[in-house]
Amino acid sequence: MKEAPHDADSVNARLLVQAGFINQLAAGIYTYLPLGLRVLTKIKTIIREEMQAVGGQEILMPALIPKAPWEATKRWDAIDVLFKLKGAGDKDFALGPTHEEVVTPLVQQYVKSYKDLPVSVYQIQDKFRNEPRAKSGLLRGREFAMKDMYSFHASLADLEQYYDRVKQQYLSAFARCGLDAIVTEASGGVFSKYSHEYQVATTSGEDIIYQCGQCRWAVNREIAEVKDGDACHRCGKGVVREVKAIEVGNIFKLSTRFADDFGFHVALEDGSAGKVWMGCYGFGPSRVMGSIIEVHHDDAGMRWPKSVAPYHVHLVSLSHKDESVKNQIDEAAQELHDALEAAGVEVVWDDREDVRAGEKFADADLIGIPLRLVVSEKTLSEGAAEWKERHETEARLVKLEDVLQETKEWLAAPERLTSHG
Ligand code: ATP
Ligand code: MG
Repeated sequence: MKEAPHDADSVNARLLVQAGFINQLAAGIYTYLPLGLRVLTKIKTIIREEMQAVGGQEILMPALIPKAPWEATKRWDAIDVLFKLKGAGDKDFALGPTHEEVVTPLVQQYVKSYKDLPVSVYQIQDKFRNEPRAKSGLLRGREFAMKDMYSFHASLADLEQYYDRVKQQYLSAFARCGLDAIVTEASGGVFSKYSHEYQVATTSGEDIIYQCGQCRWAVNREIAEVKDGDACHRCGKGVVREVKAIEVGNIFKLSTRFADDFGFHVALEDGSAGKVWMGCYGFGPSRVMGSIIEVHHDDAGMRWPKSVAPYHVHLVSLSHKDESVKNQIDEAAQELHDALEAAGVEVVWDDREDVRAGEKFADADLIGIPLRLVVSEKTLSEGAAEWKERHETEARLVKLEDVLQETKEWLAAPERLTSHG
């Protein structure tokens, strides 16, 4: 879009809408357009790989859930954001805001003995929450993507061990998305002392956390017994500072609460009925997508990390009024495009003919693909393409025959991101 949407209330909403990544249908409800869907898919792939690394098995549960299991857990009226609807025959349904009510009786049907445990299943699915104030673009949606994993254990000790493993793996998932997530103690409901939130520090965050500058221990203000400037009671050395942040993930020990509600027990070695201990692990791919932009942007637009950028390379060819020069430019760009794609480099090619160079560059900055390559009469006169990384201010020329190799090396090199949000 030529202009930023006038009603955008956050950086991610403004940039993602203007650059054509997402389109708003209503408050908190978005379509993912081609560029945006590529980013969301990459984030989902990362979390999928990370959950497989902790033995999670992927399933897909329905989003449309009948009333009965919500009554079993007494949550039909307790969850204020529950979307409720009537089906044929006046039957009540809810759109899933979370899936304990489906997954617990599901696993119960297959797991009969302690020998069948542990089991860990996850899904990546849209969740529905009737948020009173859907806002800030992808940060708070009414329909939004979630990865929710549920683990089942024959003992508290086994749950705790697995929980710690997932807690660690989550850091890798966020790091791969270009986010430096802070593990934060948060309220865990009535079942365990704390849950753990993954918080990303940014001035646009809705949450307030306190973090020790020394040992990195952090706690959400909701349960904090500290204030800004206090000595850290964890390490005794650092000072605790107030930080604004966005919650991008949350993991809980559910203890035996949901298993008890559904009468889910397993046969123990001596034949008696044993309790089933559960953990749940949430991660928000769409909120992660918005958070990446809150953290990685500048005045000109977005700055995607290589790992989740819609494409690796933004190839720009500049048109020329002389037909034969124009053909040379097109040919060189085509060759570059094909060679890069054949090597597995993802390239989007701006070959528009009726658009000025300055406009193409402004669009490239807005879209924020990490590497821009330009082919023009000027670069071809040097037998080169112009190379500019999104975070750099200066461009340089790279000989056409070296571009493929340099791009491959650049892609394999570690990310060099700096936060701006
Ligand atoms: P919040 O306190 O921000 O409303 P929550 O604590 O209710 O979120 P959880 O139930 O912990 O959310 O959900 C797990 C993850 O799903 C969150 O950490 C977040 O990444 C994502 N998420 C939750 N609500 C939304 C939403 N409305 N829009 C986008 N992502 C969300
Ligand atoms: Mg939460």
